[in-house]
Amino acid sequence: LDVASRRWRTTSDVQASFPNRGTYAHKGSNGRGVIIGAQPTMPGSVLLSSRAALRSGAGLITVATLKENISIIANGCVEATYHVLPNLIDRLSDKDLKAFDQFDAIAVGMGMGRAKSELLSSLIENLDKPVVIDADGLYHLKTFLDQKAEKRANLIITPHYGEMAMLSNLPVSEIKKAPFEVSKQFAIKHNLYIVLKGKNTIITTPNGTQMVSNQGNPGLAKGGTGDVLSGILLTMIMQHPSILEALANGSYIHGMAADLLIDLKQHTEIDLLATDVIEGLSQVFRTLS
Ligand code: AMP
Ligand code: MG
Repeated sequence: LDVASRRWRTTSDVQASFPNRGTYAHKGSNGRGVIIGAQPTMPGSVLLSSRAALRSGAGLITVATLKENISIIANGCVEATYHVLPNLIDRLSDKDLKAFDQFDAIAVGMGMGRAKSELLSSLIENLDKPVVIDADGLYHLKTFLDQKAEKRANLIITPHYGEMAMLSNLPVSEIKKAPFEVSKQFAIKHNLYIVLKGKNTIITTPNGTQMVSNQGNPGLAKGGTGDVLSGILLTMIMQHPSILEALANGSYIHGMAADLLIDLKQHTEIDLLATDVIEGLSQVFRTLS
């Protein structure tokens, strides 16, 4: 792996490009984001994303999900507000699209299920906000990319290696051999940003510029940590004019939170959970500021 020549993100890069919170900041200036997802069997997915987005400094987070999920999610995240979707299968209604158009950025796909759905395609065909697509949303994106030639430059996908294999029709072994090259070709071909998650996380822009974060540890290899990353990335995107800088910062602070929790002996790689990573963000921001 040709990693020596890569642009590794450093703590000082993150410090230098982290958005300042002005004295006159208000909810609106800190970013409004909507998180769409969660079948009733996976309410934790969007709960983790919404808490992570808020702990990263978002001004307002709305969770768009099925009615039956709201009480459980709200129980874990009282700071969020809720938008009821009748299902996660149909095209979004004009009313839903109009509501989502009020937000600065969107995250979609966590716990959404893989049953055939038109939700994602209706979202990306009708709105031009930055959209972070993760988890099951990537399966719906695959259908969309296979069918549509239309391209737009502010879609952000956050696959792990298995999801990248699914999207690119390559075996995981090929992606492991050439993660930078595979990401670059796919990002250029489909005109989107890729956050390829693993031990090192590789960020690629639609024109092929790349950065790497080496933060994080095997304690993150557990369900829910990807949902936390999506929430952090959503907030970073809302607050930074450069999507590349936002993605590099977000990937870095997610891994750094996990590393600090272990360095500070608050957790081990064994017991670290996704919820702990969210709480660890406080240590990251203390270190950065
Ligand atoms: P997901 O695969 O969607 O659940 O996301 C897992 C998250 O944990 C990603 O941000 C990965 O980069 C991170 N992660 C998983 N395993 C490791 C590891 N061994 N070292 C560092 N980060 C990891
Ligand atoms: Mg995931």
